[in-house]
Amino acid sequence: MAESGAQEIIDVHCHCFTGSGQTEIVNRGLARLRQAGVKQLAVMGLVNPELDEQQVWQLIPEGFENLGDPLFNEADDLLDFTRQSDDMLFPMLDTRMLHGQSQTVIEQLFHLGFRGIKGLYLPDEANDLQISSIPATFGISRKEYLRHTWEIFAFAEKNELPVLYHMDASRYGDMMCAILDDFPRLRINIPHFGISRKAFSKILDRYPNVFTDIAYMRPHIQNNPASYADFINHYSTRICFGTDALLYQADIILDYIELVRSLKLSQEVENLIFSGNPQRFLG
Ligand SMILES: [Zn+2]
Repeated sequence: MAESGAQEIIDVHCHCFTGSGQTEIVNRGLARLRQAGVKQLAVMGLVNPELDEQQVWQLIPEGFENLGDPLFNEADDLLDFTRQSDDMLFPMLDTRMLHGQSQTVIEQLFHLGFRGIKGLYLPDEANDLQISSIPATFGISRKEYLRHTWEIFAFAEKNELPVLYHMDASRYGDMMCAILDDFPRLRINIPHFGISRKAFSKILDRYPNVFTDIAYMRPHIQNNPASYADFINHYSTRICFGTDALLYQADIILDYIELVRSLKLSQEVENLIFSGNPQRFLG
């Protein structure tokens, strides 16, 4: 708790989609968020060494408007915003467009200031996001894709970096267990309640190093607040505040703060969601 008695809030799940042309909007938004008690935002920044404009959009779900670099090379802008924000931003490297890149590329980016990793499990076209698979986009085999994925997890575990990893527990539960069995020390957030709360509960019960977040869940939570409040109370030490907001969308973050408060959780659980769990996840 801050001295004013205001609650501290950490959003573990935002995306950049913003560039230096939006500096004013971003700074105005961050000022409003600070006033609302937001202390930190983890922001995913994409890097795209080789895909063309048509290919990059095959890896972006619908409904996210990009105001930044059209080819999603966001690293420089995101690291600039981070410095300007007095480290209110916690930049995480979105690796979805990096497959086939050598480990050194990723290491170089971490020397520049990234502090965590973001990935999506996209082995085939049947994913919940309805976007292309990574093997098809890059023309690599599924086996190669898995090898790259394992390398990234090994890098994260070795360097104690938090990983935000989008993965559907109902469709890919066995692969999720394989990852978690191989990387028991990883701090990993599988967002959106693992897409299926039923399948994901088994994962949360079995692996104590797994977190999740409420990003993108607002309409679902609003439709069934009692059931979601039960779930949050049951896994109160694992669920983080997250929004999927783009860096220029402070309003969405404020809406999610309202959403959490509307659930009337105990003060203790609310504090865990807003800051206790996010702090443990980000480290
Ligand atoms: Zn997201």
